[in-house]
Amino acid sequence: MQRTQSQELFEKAKQYIPGGVNSPVRAFRAVGGSPIFIKSAKGPYIYDEDGNQYLEFINSWGPMILGHAHELIEKAVSDAIQHSFSFGAPTRKEVEMAELIVSMVPSVEKVRMVNSGTEATMSAIRVARGYTGRDKIIKFEGCYHGHGDSFLISAGSGAVTMGVPDSPGVTKGVANDTLTAPFNDLPALELLIEANKGQIAALILEPVVGNMGCVLPNEGYLEAIRTLCTKEGIVLIFDEVMTGFRLAKGGAQERFGIIPDMTTMGKIIGGGMPVGAYGGKREIMDCVSPAGPVYQAGTLSGNPIAMSAGLAMLRYLEAHPEVYTRLDEVGNTITAGVKASLQKVGVNYTVNHIGSMFTLFMTDQPVTDFTSAKSADLPLFGRYFQAMLKRGIYLAPSQFESLFFSYALEDAHIQQFIAANEEALREVL
Ligand code: PMP
Repeated sequence: MQRTQSQELFEKAKQYIPGGVNSPVRAFRAVGGSPIFIKSAKGPYIYDEDGNQYLEFINSWGPMILGHAHELIEKAVSDAIQHSFSFGAPTRKEVEMAELIVSMVPSVEKVRMVNSGTEATMSAIRVARGYTGRDKIIKFEGCYHGHGDSFLISAGSGAVTMGVPDSPGVTKGVANDTLTAPFNDLPALELLIEANKGQIAALILEPVVGNMGCVLPNEGYLEAIRTLCTKEGIVLIFDEVMTGFRLAKGGAQERFGIIPDMTTMGKIIGGGMPVGAYGGKREIMDCVSPAGPVYQAGTLSGNPIAMSAGLAMLRYLEAHPEVYTRLDEVGNTITAGVKASLQKVGVNYTVNHIGSMFTLFMTDQPVTDFTSAKSADLPLFGRYFQAMLKRGIYLAPSQFESLFFSYALEDAHIQQFIAANEEALREVL
């Protein structure tokens, strides 16, 4: 497989872009080699600048749940661009979008559109602080909530892959207001809340973590967090940037039946365009300017092209519940296939999976939190990643990411993945 175009582009990119990429994990630092530069994508496939085809399991880190270049979204965008690209003024589409989100996501009574998941989480904690009059927030080790200063403390995803869990440039003052707890450890959380009684504005978590690899909440864990937050007057924020519209049409909160006070959204909600959103209880959201005193704004927020793509996506998902049945089936089949292969090749590695989220951890410890995720053999993962790439399978280039399955995967693709996985394991072990 020739990748000379990609290699040349990367060399040039490094002269003009920090590290050659516009988001760190894309640089393949965690897996070695140089990144592939993508030219186009359709359905379950992406194509690089050298003309190589890969079966795709990143899907733009989540948004492309229907596969690439879905015709309904293409049409929505091409219709929208006939009317100019941005107005910076209210539009009908924003109202339709808000109404649709409120109807789909159980916790959301009012919603504000922004341009990324990072903006959504940064804004949500500001609102929670304004609403409660408290300063501190709790996040979990290994959860990633975008690159807002408050969240770059024990963060997952690219922040751990790059080995900068605590980034320079984040002030001590900001860091002091972010408390961290280990995921899935209720006693530790109770102690932390007790030690900071009456000072905690918000607790934010990924209800199913994607950013330390896929990690599921223990039975009863989300319920217990809900109860604790209610008792202590803490605003519970589910960061559903990854899980929203993916684990169910109403996200993890629908799937687990736990209703947070606020929800942050991104990825799928924009159909591949840069979109985020945060929403929640009416009483909390009415703190947001101009209804209330908490300021938050955006020149391109609610952008008509982005709203058109997102609306087409969400309308499709709402009208086609079979998408979720199928994605569960895809996840179950791949998980069963991978587990069978692991047995055949004689290793006992951990597979975490729910719906269309999946991670094969190169460790035989159960992975339930950041510490156990970090027990994975990272050099081995790097070799496995390259062995898969060589076989035309494009995985997330880090152990600390979830794969995302798309609705465009057909049974033959699933079998292709399972077979490639077994061959790759045999090659690297
Ligand atoms: N929250 C979660 C759970 C995420 O996975 C991400 C991005 N991977 C973000 C927030 C940040 O979103 P964005 O990259 O759009 O800023």
